[in-house]
Amino acid sequence: MNLTLDNDLSIEVVRTNRKKTASIKIVDGSVQVIVPQNLSDARVEELIQKRTPWIRRKLREQSQAVLPKPKEYVSGESFTYLGRNYRLKVLRGNDQEVKLKGGYLEVGVSKKPKEGDIRNALVEWYEEHALDRLIEKTNRYAKIMGVTPNSIVARDYKSRWGSCSSKGDVSYNWRIIIAPHHIVDYVVVHELCHLKHPNHSPAYWKSVKSEIPDYEVCRQWLKEHALELVI
Ligand SMILES: [Zn+2]
Repeated sequence: MNLTLDNDLSIEVVRTNRKKTASIKIVDGSVQVIVPQNLSDARVEELIQKRTPWIRRKLREQSQAVLPKPKEYVSGESFTYLGRNYRLKVLRGNDQEVKLKGGYLEVGVSKKPKEGDIRNALVEWYEEHALDRLIEKTNRYAKIMGVTPNSIVARDYKSRWGSCSSKGDVSYNWRIIIAPHHIVDYVVVHELCHLKHPNHSPAYWKSVKSEIPDYEVCRQWLKEHALELVI
């Protein structure tokens, strides 16, 4: 059975004896609703209507989750820092030094750079600046919120933006510094609120919201742009 809702969502309904509850699968932009064999058509339709906003959101996320083009580390290429784009300028013959200068991200490398030299220099620069900015932001929000983190570090996490231990050690993924300021602020507040609530309870989200009223927009932005925050 194929259903078309609102003229643009195409959904395949699969009936099976092997399931007692309904589930929805979205793979490569196609939607499958798997339901128990004996569920009535009316119930199936009702279920799909109810889940349509969720299906739309997932489809949107998947379509935007396109892997960015791998970086080539050549002059003219665009790099983002705190949400602003800078052109890369590779200066050969200069000593390894990276700096932001008039809209450019300048990287000095030796006359014959080895493969990875430019990227390594950039990563080092981002890590260093990430830590500085994250310490600054964490201290600022900690003061406002009346909490005291024990330590602040920036790490190379693969799939998280931050964490907060029960001892109050806050760590961040240095790559968050590629994102715009208000997204970085959200991640900082997210971790600091864990000093008050070591969970994601309604009370926890309430305290996030009191600092970042549009935190839901920030969370969604992070989901949609996670793959782009790479060097
Ligand atoms: Zn959390």
